[in-house]
Amino acid sequence: MRDESEAQGAVPCAVVLAESRQDLTRALAVASEVEVPITPRAAGTGRSGGAIPIEGGIVLATLGLGSIVDIDRHEGLAVVEPGVVLADLHAAVEQEGWFYPPDPNSLEQCALGGNLAENSSGPRALKYGGTRDYVLGLDALLVGGDALALGRKTRKGVTGYDLTSLMVGSEGTLAVFARATLRLIAKPESVMTLVALFESVQAAAACVVSLVRPEHGPRCLELMDHVTLQALRDAGNPIDPRAGAMLLIEVDGPQHSVEQHAERIGATCVSRGATSVEAAAHPAQRDRLWSARRELSRALRKLARHKLAHDVVVPRTRLGALLDHVAQYEARSDIRALTYGHAGDGALHVNFLWDADEHAPQVAAAEAALFRRVIELGGTLTAEHGIGLVKAPYLSFEQDSALVGLQRELKRKFDPKGLLNPGKVFAP
Ligand SMILES: Cc1cc2nc3c(=O)[nH]c(=O)nc-3n(C[C@H](O)[C@H](O)[C@H](O)COP(=O)(O)OP(=O)(O)OC[C@H]3O[C@@H](n4cnc5c(N)ncnc54)[C@H](O)[C@@H]3O)c2cc1C
Repeated sequence: MRDESEAQGAVPCAVVLAESRQDLTRALAVASEVEVPITPRAAGTGRSGGAIPIEGGIVLATLGLGSIVDIDRHEGLAVVEPGVVLADLHAAVEQEGWFYPPDPNSLEQCALGGNLAENSSGPRALKYGGTRDYVLGLDALLVGGDALALGRKTRKGVTGYDLTSLMVGSEGTLAVFARATLRLIAKPESVMTLVALFESVQAAAACVVSLVRPEHGPRCLELMDHVTLQALRDAGNPIDPRAGAMLLIEVDGPQHSVEQHAERIGATCVSRGATSVEAAAHPAQRDRLWSARRELSRALRKLARHKLAHDVVVPRTRLGALLDHVAQYEARSDIRALTYGHAGDGALHVNFLWDADEHAPQVAAAEAALFRRVIELGGTLTAEHGIGLVKAPYLSFEQDSALVGLQRELKRKFDPKGLLNPGKVFAP
């Protein structure tokens, strides 16, 4: 059983295709009774091996709980089950005039259970934040089947410790979510998308720093380096062959201010060395500008048998140094390395692509060197994909043993037998 990482798992002894809260409770009770590991799973698009059962046991598939239980148009809330596909939630709330901002690029496939467990975010996080910023309450089930009613159904509230926030991003290791209450916001009146091309990725990275200012206020600011652009050209995308980097920028708000912001952003791009800037407000034209970015994962998959995508983050002012690290590695290695991602947040996806299995140790050394450099630059190991299985061996690069120990104690409090999603976050 796999996800969208390179991680390998064991064959589970049972897969529970849950369709109701009672199915979840019973599976969690059985796991506790017979003391077998249990691994929650939603759509399996995770990039850190979180849904992979490394010790076999039970896989608890939650996609069958796929109801949008309620959209309260007066309160601006949505109540959802964990199997709801994110794009379906977007469509449903937007029909009611509301907006749910988190937008991982896998939104047509991934489900809310996975989004909650990973605290997923996406391009719009630059302006709106990630999943955690929209979760008011959770129906969380513990191993054994006991339930915790966490959080609230009101927009404000600070009663007790904020265990809802602890659960969001807990990577399926503390509890299984049966339901979530989400906060919605007003749908922006209008949106504009811009694409700016640059000769070099360093020029594009410097421009990112200039664009993330209050007078520009972009909601998305995505970067693609020259290796990424070449992969897109090879896949049939007509991108100017002279371009060495691309920024994809989006602004939203009232129409008059969106136009002003877009004009200022275009001018800043040109003053920072952009060789061309294209802007679009019409949905079909905006879609065309996004198409290369959306194609990316598929286009890269075709390039090599193996693909590792690491979602590291550095302060925006250090993006250039991180890009330099990857470019230098790419220049001296047999492994193809390329970078793209949510640069406005300082979050870049560094990808390693290779064919020969014997190159795996070389890639492992490259990822360790990448993580060391990220920490040296004042960054963090994961922006949105989670530690999961693939980054667990590197947790100590960022966090000292006392902090890791405290988190292990918390895990024991919720799951004393260590049965829920073992091997994730903390290396065995
Ligand atoms: C092409 C592509 C683009 C992507 N782009 C982004 C992006 O822009 N931003 C981003 O953040 N991520 C991105 N991802 C990663 C991935 O889509 C997200 O992490 C997503 O939230 C995973 O959702 P899922 O439903 O596939 O979860 P799964 O992969 O099935 O599971 C992920 C984790 O959630 C846990 N889990 C699942 N259901 C539950 C539940 N009910 N209760 C408790 N725990 C549960 C699992 O145990 C696992 O640890 C991308 C992935 C792909 C393939």
